[in-house]
Amino acid sequence: MQSDRPTDTPSEQFGEEESTAHAPGQSSGCFPEAPRFEDIFSLEDIQRIQDAFAAAADVASVITTPEGHFLTKPSNFTALCRDIIRETPLGSANCARSDRSLGEACPQGPAVAKCLSGGLLDGATPIFFGKRHIATWFIGQVADESFDAAAGMAYAREIGADEDAFRRALEKVPRMSRERFGKVCTALYCFAEHLSAMALRNHQQSLLIDDLRQAQAELKTRDRNLADLIDFLPDPTMVVNAQGSVVFWNKAMEKLTGIAAVDMLGKSRFEYGEPFYGAPTPLLIDYARGAVGQPDARYVVADKNVDSIIAEVSVATLPRGPRHIWAKAVALRDDTGRITGGIEVIRDITDNQRADLALRESEEKFRRIVETANEGVWVLDAADKTAFVNRRMAAMLGCSAEEMPGSLVEPFLTEKSLPTVRAHLDKLRQGQTTVFEHELRAVTGAVLWVMVSASPLYDGSGRYIGALGMFTDITARKKIEEELAESSHRLEAEVEERTRDLRLQALELAEANIRLSELDRLKSAFLSTVSHELRTPLTSILGFAKLIGRDFNDQFLPLATGVPALEAKGRRIASNLAVVYGEAERLTRLINDVLDLNRIESGNMHWRDTRFNPLEVLGKAANSIKGLLSQRPEITFVLEMNEDVPEVRMDPDQLIQVVTNLLQNAVKFTREGTVRMTVRREGEAVELAIADSGIGIPPGELEAIFGKFHQVGRSDTMGETTKGTGLGLAICRQIVRHYGGRIWAESQLGQGSVFYVLLPGCDAAQAETPTTMATAKVRSPAAVDDCGVKTPDAARCGQKP
Ligand code: ADP
Repeated sequence: MQSDRPTDTPSEQFGEEESTAHAPGQSSGCFPEAPRFEDIFSLEDIQRIQDAFAAAADVASVITTPEGHFLTKPSNFTALCRDIIRETPLGSANCARSDRSLGEACPQGPAVAKCLSGGLLDGATPIFFGKRHIATWFIGQVADESFDAAAGMAYAREIGADEDAFRRALEKVPRMSRERFGKVCTALYCFAEHLSAMALRNHQQSLLIDDLRQAQAELKTRDRNLADLIDFLPDPTMVVNAQGSVVFWNKAMEKLTGIAAVDMLGKSRFEYGEPFYGAPTPLLIDYARGAVGQPDARYVVADKNVDSIIAEVSVATLPRGPRHIWAKAVALRDDTGRITGGIEVIRDITDNQRADLALRESEEKFRRIVETANEGVWVLDAADKTAFVNRRMAAMLGCSAEEMPGSLVEPFLTEKSLPTVRAHLDKLRQGQTTVFEHELRAVTGAVLWVMVSASPLYDGSGRYIGALGMFTDITARKKIEEELAESSHRLEAEVEERTRDLRLQALELAEANIRLSELDRLKSAFLSTVSHELRTPLTSILGFAKLIGRDFNDQFLPLATGVPALEAKGRRIASNLAVVYGEAERLTRLINDVLDLNRIESGNMHWRDTRFNPLEVLGKAANSIKGLLSQRPEITFVLEMNEDVPEVRMDPDQLIQVVTNLLQNAVKFTREGTVRMTVRREGEAVELAIADSGIGIPPGELEAIFGKFHQVGRSDTMGETTKGTGLGLAICRQIVRHYGGRIWAESQLGQGSVFYVLLPGCDAAQAETPTTMATAKVRSPAAVDDCGVKTPDAARCGQKP
């Protein structure tokens, strides 16, 4: 038996053995690991047993690995072996060889042999783990009855040991019969066998314990995960165990009920019903796990089977007030089918319910709108088959809304409309909305025109599921359009014809215009020739009539004095001469007026315009009629001139002509009374008003009197004195308009008349642009003027002809 010290690194040596230990056939195959002796046993405990055994049996003892490395410390080793033989190199080598040989024999069973070094008796027994040899337990260093002391001393000499010390040590070596040593070895073998069995058991137990620990850890993890999972659930969730105690109360449940999990966990006897009903009440979970026979009558059960139930219920005492909730409860069972508790998930569907209600109401509303709509509604599915038509659409198609679903579009189209509708259906499939018109053929065969506004329909995932079209019956409109088109065609033809006529007329007019211009030119030439030719003899007639009258009055009439017949004849001749003179004078006035008007209208009038204060010129004009007034003493003339009048720019002679003409008319058409001329400022203009208390003018003639040759027809004619030409006012209007002014009359029949003249002052006239002036001219009353031609009467105007 060797006396090596136990190695400090036995495991490293066993480590080298591992691969062998694990080799199939050598291992028991039951163990995933190849445990070492020191993994299975407590070396401390084994050391104590080994020490006690060695002391009790009085043998030396040590346990080594199968390779011979010490696992324990040597017990009860003899001084002979430990301090003498081993201290010599040869003794030590022999010791090792002896132990090795004993150890090699060991796996087959316990072995007893004489030590190859000192001849003492040694024994060894193997310790197994299953079938694997994991340690060898050595005992020995005893001298049996066959021990030869002399041979021992000879061995001392052989190995070079101190013989005295060898002898002394040898004397102390325990003596034991071979038989007894054999019994000790058997006892050790039994113990080692027991240790081997224990090793296996120990290891199996430790594996079991490991498995158990691992299972417990996994269970804890799973519990924690489950708790997290239930907490994570968005719906309020609770779990109770077989006893009906709350084991899970997740966060959503805390939020719904306002009760924290710590306050609810462990609660039983239906206390968890309190947040919902205000008092401990069984919940759906209690029905699912079989704790109550029937679900509460308040539940509206939607689905129920052996282990689960779904129901809705209204609860009153939740923190957010009365709520409508949906709940599902399921029984939890173990592997044997025994109910181990229950789980209940709750969903607050109050808002959903309201939304559902609102949706139903809105659907109902839209259904009614669609049903009562004036437009037809036609919904097609993705295969262009009818999914829905409203009543109006069905009426257009001539069938009932119920029989339409499933039918295709084509049978309701005319040959003309088929390609149009197909093209638009393609557009809809490509996601476009379309508006178009086409013909529809009702089942009755009637053809109607419709206008369609169509849009594609998609499902929630954006897939095309069909199209919706709004149909308006436009048959009547189409008919009107056709009629309109026809009449417009007709009109166009008529207009073309009329245009052709008008063009012809325009041509004729243009030709007539040319002819008229020529005539006008001829007329002017004629007028000037004629007037010249007339004026010369007229001047002679006037001169001679005047001369004859004067001679007749001065020389012939006195001769008839005293002869009544001659006197009467003489007065008649004088009177006739006066008529000749008067008519010749009127003819002269007429010629002058005609020429004057012709000059103005043909643009040949020579206007000698100058800027002046009108008061002086108006004063002169007033003076010019004094001669006339002197013959009419029954008329009072009043002149009122306001100093503050603006200056005017015009021909002063023309102003005199206008005023003289108006004053002569006033005197002429007044039997007695007053003729009043007023001059005043009217803004930037000068206003003249010539008022008389004469015979007046009928309202219907107030405008006409400014026309050429127009004279008011009267029954109460004022005699020869009122005879005129009817051109005076026409000339006045032409002159006033030429200067951008206005002239008009107001009158009361039988009461008198007022003639107004408004002439723009210099500042106003200068300030105005030519356009404004032109506008002013257009605004003046007589767009209706159609004037003749005449020269002013010298007598009336106070001017020479
Ligand atoms: P005439 O030479 O006839 O006076 P006018 O053109 O001056 O031509 O006048 C046209 C007509 O207007 C007159 O014939 C007369 O009937 C009417 N008329 C003009 N002024 C007055 C007036 N102050 N009172 C009444 N009638 C008037």
